Amino acid sequence: MDEAAKSNEETRDAPKGFSLLLVVEDDLTAKRLEEILARPEGTRFETTRVLRVEEALLRLHADRFDAMLIDLSVHEADGLDSLMRASAAASAVPIVVLTYQRDEETGLRATRAGAQDYLAKGEVTPELLTRTLIHAIERHRTLQALTQAKRKHQFLATHDTLTELPNRYWFMDQLDRLLARSQRSNTPIAVFFIDLDGFKAINDNLGHAIGDELLGDVAKRLRSSIRKNDLVARIGGDEFLAAIQGIEDEEEAFTTADVIRQAVERPYHLDGNECWISASIGIAIHPQHGEDGESLIQSADAAMYEAKNSGKNCIHMYNTELNEKAAERFEMVNGLRQAVLSGQLFLEFQPQIEVATESIVGVETLVRWEHPTRGSISPADFIPVAEETGGMVQLGEWVLRAACQAAMGWEGLNDARVAVNISGRQIHHHDFLSHLDRVLDETGIAPTRLELELTESLAASEEAVQVLDQIRERGIRVAIDDFGTGYSSLTLLRRLNVDLLKIDQSFVRGAAQTDPDGVILEGIIHIARGLGIDLIAEGVETVEEMRCLLERGCSRMQGYLFSKPVTRHELVHLATDPEAAWRIPIVDPESWSPELSQRSIQTQTRRGGARSGSLHDPDEHLYPVLKD
Ligand code: C2E
Ligand code: MG
Ligand code: MG
Repeated sequence: MDEAAKSNEETRDAPKGFSLLLVVEDDLTAKRLEEILARPEGTRFETTRVLRVEEALLRLHADRFDAMLIDLSVHEADGLDSLMRASAAASAVPIVVLTYQRDEETGLRATRAGAQDYLAKGEVTPELLTRTLIHAIERHRTLQALTQAKRKHQFLATHDTLTELPNRYWFMDQLDRLLARSQRSNTPIAVFFIDLDGFKAINDNLGHAIGDELLGDVAKRLRSSIRKNDLVARIGGDEFLAAIQGIEDEEEAFTTADVIRQAVERPYHLDGNECWISASIGIAIHPQHGEDGESLIQSADAAMYEAKNSGKNCIHMYNTELNEKAAERFEMVNGLRQAVLSGQLFLEFQPQIEVATESIVGVETLVRWEHPTRGSISPADFIPVAEETGGMVQLGEWVLRAACQAAMGWEGLNDARVAVNISGRQIHHHDFLSHLDRVLDETGIAPTRLELELTESLAASEEAVQVLDQIRERGIRVAIDDFGTGYSSLTLLRRLNVDLLKIDQSFVRGAAQTDPDGVILEGIIHIARGLGIDLIAEGVETVEEMRCLLERGCSRMQGYLFSKPVTRHELVHLATDPEAAWRIPIVDPESWSPELSQRSIQTQTRRGGARSGSLHDPDEHLYPVLKD
């Protein structure tokens, strides 16, 4: 190999070169350094020479360099000053300095001033210079990677990765600082608890990817509706917190919250879909609604609950009454845990009637809570609490098992189906199907006798569609509860593969009229027929409603007209007694009158007070959970 070829080969094999900024005033030194650094053997350095640090800083703005070599050997003392400026301005570039002599003192001063390393001018050899520069570059890169990892770690610990908003931990920390400052300056702070309305339905209907995108957009709007030095954080699925400083009075807090509310309410364009979402906002003001961060957030949370209860998409200011409500809720959460364990929960059953054959074809199971001091609590009140506090899976499992056990002992109703309401928490629980199998196995109930009721928004998620298919594969029927009040589209209905639609009572109320509800009712009946899905009307209360439903072709009904939910014992009576009151409106609707209806309801209901003594058996309908 000739010399030229050898040199080419070496250049190709040599590690990639580095670009070096030389800050050297003295021409001789510069020339010597450039010669060393341009040697063909070893690592190559592309050098750019400038005379002074000021010039170097300008070059650093324009170009990228791997390292900077500064000659301080001529005027070391003033040079250190320049070095400090250079290192502060160019933290991304490691600096090696040339000093007059090699001693610890000089080295220490140079490194304190920001240099990675130093070399005494008299001892510079090609090898030493190259090695020192490479080490400085590598060390600097490692340090930078470490700093970046540390920053990332800190970001992850204090931020929510989806929206990149700070998290609760960061919010609490910053809020405490704000509170300390505001106490000194005596300026009030308002804390907003912001909760999106109906976010779950969007997630369920449009998918989690769109739900995530929506949260990202909401976060951006929240951030842009408050000032830069105010705080905003995401603390849970669709829950956000904001803290606004220097609020004059409650009025101003309301106005700011309304700006946020309106910002959230504007339409979103997500993956070709236009969607809307609103927010319920609770406000608490420091110091009157809480002394510290934790209590302010609690108060704002209670106020947000109130905003939700007053119809969503609204704003509520904390007041002391809410404190009592929050305490009540807390009591309910704790009481419910106790209730499941101590058998305060029991089931009632409401018959489902096929008017055409005058028979009870099914029975819906409805859970009840007989609270030791507060009396009967409606499932509409305690089911959402159980959902939120994680008790729903256990409660739902108990209802399912107890309902199937009860159905196995129904005298006169051996063919009737038992319908059980299933909540979102249950259907999304990983163990739901195996629990279902266990219940079928242990109670011996035929799967075809079991019907699971879900609301539209629950049934619509991709995850639920798959679970529903597996439920139906077992022969169990699936019903859509409160149909017409959710978000189902017709396409969804086809994809869902359900067996039964339960027409919501709001449409039944309008059955006798030709107003939109009546028209929708007719539409639902047509669609169900067309798709081969069974139908039942819920909440039928009057003969008039029954007649209209029959005329429109819906003959399966459930409602107070026939029977209120009753105990298991009473149900057997309704099934076996040929004189049972529910038959009256069917057999002879003409003879039916409001008084008669009243009487029939009273004899059938637990709470009517006129129940016959022989039907009463207080333990009959109790299924303590721990019985198993
Ligand atoms: P739902 O499943 O739609 O049950 C029907 C509700 O309408 C019941 O209220 C029932 O008592 C009531 N109802 C029946 N007929 C009539 C009528 O003619 N007129 C009127 N105005 N109302 C009638 P309830 O028992 O208070 O239950 C409310 C909701 O609580 C249920 O609505 C269901 O969503 C939920 N729920 C009840 N039990 C359970 C359960 O075991 N698990 C789950 N996940 N939810 C349950
Ligand atoms: Mg139901
Ligand atoms: Mg319903």
